[in-house]
Amino acid sequence: MEARRMVSQPASQTRKSWVRRQQPDRSQLIRHAVQASFLLLNAWIGILFYRWVRSFEQGGSGMAQPVDARPAGVDGWLPIAGLMHTKFLFLTGHLPVIHPAALFLFLAFVAISLLLKRAFCSWLCPVGTLSEALWHLGQWIFGRTLRLPRWLDIPLRSLKYLLLGLFVVLIGSMSALALEQFMQTPYGLIVDVRMLNFFRFMSLTSAIVMVAIGLLSLGIQNFWCRYLCPYGALLGLVATLSPVKIRRETSACIACGKCARHCPSHLPVDKLVQIRSAECTACMECVAVCPAQDALQLALPAHRTSRQTPQWSGRQLHPATVAAVIALLFLSAVAWAHWTHHWQTELPRTVYQQLIPEANFLSHPGL
Ligand code: SF4
Ligand code: SF4
Repeated sequence: MEARRMVSQPASQTRKSWVRRQQPDRSQLIRHAVQASFLLLNAWIGILFYRWVRSFEQGGSGMAQPVDARPAGVDGWLPIAGLMHTKFLFLTGHLPVIHPAALFLFLAFVAISLLLKRAFCSWLCPVGTLSEALWHLGQWIFGRTLRLPRWLDIPLRSLKYLLLGLFVVLIGSMSALALEQFMQTPYGLIVDVRMLNFFRFMSLTSAIVMVAIGLLSLGIQNFWCRYLCPYGALLGLVATLSPVKIRRETSACIACGKCARHCPSHLPVDKLVQIRSAECTACMECVAVCPAQDALQLALPAHRTSRQTPQWSGRQLHPATVAAVIALLFLSAVAWAHWTHHWQTELPRTVYQQLIPEANFLSHPGL
């Protein structure tokens, strides 16, 4: 889905007008700070949630008081519930009552994608952050990165869209009543606990798959995100509507190719005027390595004086602005959920007392 139009320019002409970048680029510093903050936030939520679950598991008949309230932010790890809730809201106009935070966080991440491409993947998602860290570790160990040949890369990339299609068809076939009833089943009520238990009591097959993905992530950049993540696929499709794009000023570009070589999504940034691809995660790595002043920017559309000389300057987004917009959308969604009293799942403690110790014995209502 890359921009179809390629623009070539006489290299001699561009090199004459080359101006070396004046200011050091801080985009990666800011992005990594946002990634680290969100990773820490998720780790904190994970610890609180684990303590909350354990308090019910250890309670027995004496039932100790839960040590913490359930951290509703854990619903952010339930994107399928977010998708189901979105359809439920669309059909009924009502907000969900079970795992409602999943809806608000899902909508926040969709809004981020609409405004800032797939920035969720490269700025927020803890899985994306870990995937990136594994790749850096692999580069440190092996000193190189493996790029799959095109004949293998393209069919593998379609896997995440197939997985997304499966979820969309399944959820698309459910009525509002079926969506509501699913969430009211014992499985739906504690689907968050089931998710935690998947990692705590992993089957041998699941463990082998996880280790395989981890090992592949060492050698292949963003293996999970590039090939398998249906959430990233969905956000990528939404992101194609974003007005913000990586844009190249052809008059300033010296055709050094650094941007394309450093792009984690392997996009031909040095050949395009703007990146429309659903694979672009707005990571700004290409911008960070570009040596020419104002040649490459994450920018809003701008008036173009001619097809050959688009003028993007003045419409670029500073990385701090990107971070601020992400934080604003995320916090607005959380505030909106609190304001409407739809952040926390309000269930009597006795329900959790009964269901959580039995969580591993609950089967999926559709099976
Ligand atoms: S390096 Fe540039 S083109 Fe590549 S994914 Fe990141 S922002 Fe998009
Ligand atoms: S890094 Fe890319 S945009 Fe920047 S000068 Fe080199 S080819 Fe042009």
